[in-house]
Amino acid sequence: MQLQLASWPDIESYLARTHGILVPIGSTEQHGPTGFLGTDAIAAETVARGAGEAAGALVAPTIAIGMAEHHMAFPGTITLRPSTLIAYVRDYVLSLAAHGFARFLFVNGHGGNVPTVKAAFYEIEAERRARGQGEDGDFRCRIVNWYDGPTVSSVIRQTFGAREGSHATPSEVSVTLHAYPDHRHDRPLDPPVASGSPFYGAADFRRRHPDGRIGSDPSLASAEHGRRIAEAAIADLATHYRGFMAER
Ligand SMILES: [Zn+2]
Repeated sequence: MQLQLASWPDIESYLARTHGILVPIGSTEQHGPTGFLGTDAIAAETVARGAGEAAGALVAPTIAIGMAEHHMAFPGTITLRPSTLIAYVRDYVLSLAAHGFARFLFVNGHGGNVPTVKAAFYEIEAERRARGQGEDGDFRCRIVNWYDGPTVSSVIRQTFGAREGSHATPSEVSVTLHAYPDHRHDRPLDPPVASGSPFYGAADFRRRHPDGRIGSDPSLASAEHGRRIAEAAIADLATHYRGFMAER
C-alpha cells in the first residue's frame, strides 16, 4: 500500500496492526549521458514498492531530492544542502511518528545521502529524548541501500562484474529501464568503461569524470536485467523489513 494512494481510515487501521513503514529516498542528479536524472529516486521507489507488496508494508512518498552537491556541475541536478535534508527528514519522520509509526526503514538509492540521513536520525533521537520519548527503545530508524542486499549484490556482480563501477551503474540504469522501458537514452560512451578516480567537489568531479560516470559501463543496461535485479532487491528488502519489524 502506498501512503499517498490511501485514505486516512486506511492508515488508522494499518496502525492498529503494525507501526512499520518503508521510506524510499533517492536523488535528482546526473547519471551519465544515458541515465535518467531521477535514477536514484526511481530505483529506490521501484524496490520499496515491490517490497511493500511482498511484506504487507506501507510505503511512504519518495524523497526524490537528496544531497547531490558533488553533481552540481551537470545541468538538471538538484541538491539539498545537508542541513536542509536533515531538517526535511526530521520533520517527515516526526510527522509520521506523531500518528504512531515507530519503525522507519529508509530504502536508499544514493550513497551520498547516507551520512546526512544518519545525522538526521541522531537529530530525531535527540529531539525525542529531550521530549522524554523513546525510553522503551521501540522507535527505530534505519537506512539501507537497495543494491546492498545479499542476493541483489550477487546478481549485480554476476551480471556486470567490474563494469558495474560506482556511479551511473548498469544495474541502477537497468532498474529504471525496467520501470520506464519507453524512455531509453542511447548515446555513445567514450571510453566504454569510465575512470574510477576520486574527486573533490563539483568542478573537480566534472574535470575528472567529464560525462558524469564513475567506473561504469551503463551501455550494458537493459530492462530485462532491471527486472531480475529489481526482483532480487525486492526479495532482499522484504526479508530485511520483516527482520527489522521482529527486532525487540
Ligand atoms: Zn545513482
